[in-house]
Amino acid sequence: MASIIYRKQRCSNMENTRMGGKIALITGSSRGIGRAIAERLHEDGARIAINYSRNEKAALELKERLSGSEIFKADISNRNEVRDMIKEINKKLGRIDILVNNAGIFNLMPFEEYDEERVERMYAVNVKGAIYTTLEALDNLKKSMGVVLNIASNAGVGTAADNTTFYSMTKAAIIILTKRLSFELGKYKIRVNAIAPGWVESDMTIGGKTRDEIGTFEKFFMERTELNMIGKPEYIANIASFLCSDEAAFINGQVIVADGGRIDNLTHSL
Ligand code: NAD
Repeated sequence: MASIIYRKQRCSNMENTRMGGKIALITGSSRGIGRAIAERLHEDGARIAINYSRNEKAALELKERLSGSEIFKADISNRNEVRDMIKEINKKLGRIDILVNNAGIFNLMPFEEYDEERVERMYAVNVKGAIYTTLEALDNLKKSMGVVLNIASNAGVGTAADNTTFYSMTKAAIIILTKRLSFELGKYKIRVNAIAPGWVESDMTIGGKTRDEIGTFEKFFMERTELNMIGKPEYIANIASFLCSDEAAFINGQVIVADGGRIDNLTHSL
């Protein structure tokens, strides 16, 4: 009975769509997984605050397709830029109900070739970026009793892929940030969860590679998933759609690994 009442209330509040009227800020959403999440949440009824750092053309192109959305330039590793972006979002869209900390960078490096500058840049974008954006969006999220979704990686749980040690450490940080914030922000009724994708076709993984190189990569990763599959941004967006919706109201502090069941990773131990 209670669940029937809850469903009815939810539907009327949401203008009969999954996320009708909600405002979702998605960092790094001009391409890749972020763009797929933006498209999916928009399809669910949300208006999107499209964050980009460099590619204004791609961000504008997406805005044209996603009615009611706006674009916001900010390098998330710069707290002042993030603060200004949040102010602009409030001016143009009014509030933030959903924050997807998606933007990230990936530098491959063997442990013995530790390069301080590149490792620090990864930490600044992947970890500090999520901290700054969540901190600056917090007043909004408190008001909306909103949702934070962090895009981690199966690397953060333990990937066998070569040269990923330092990247994996940044993603492990995102996983523990997710778990800790689920405690710290729970008192404001803010839910915090993460997705830990496996290898997904995007600019990060296939950008600048030849068709042959992509084929080799895909074969390598397909052979290492129980499902013999390659990840697509849409698979991650589907999970994001659920986790950001009220249908996931009872899910907090969780990390969903979506990697097709990698047989050479440690992800099964999560
Ligand atoms: P991508 O490179 O295609 O997209 C990343 C986006 O982040 C880009 O739009 C980029 O401009 C933006 N970005 C980078 N630095 C930024 C900054 N300082 N400020 C604002 N935006 C910035 O990569 P993707 O594959 O779509 O990755 C999205 C997220 O998913 C990342 O956090 C990545 O680590 C994670 N991830 C990707 C894979 C994969 O296989 N593709 C697997 C696991 C996790």
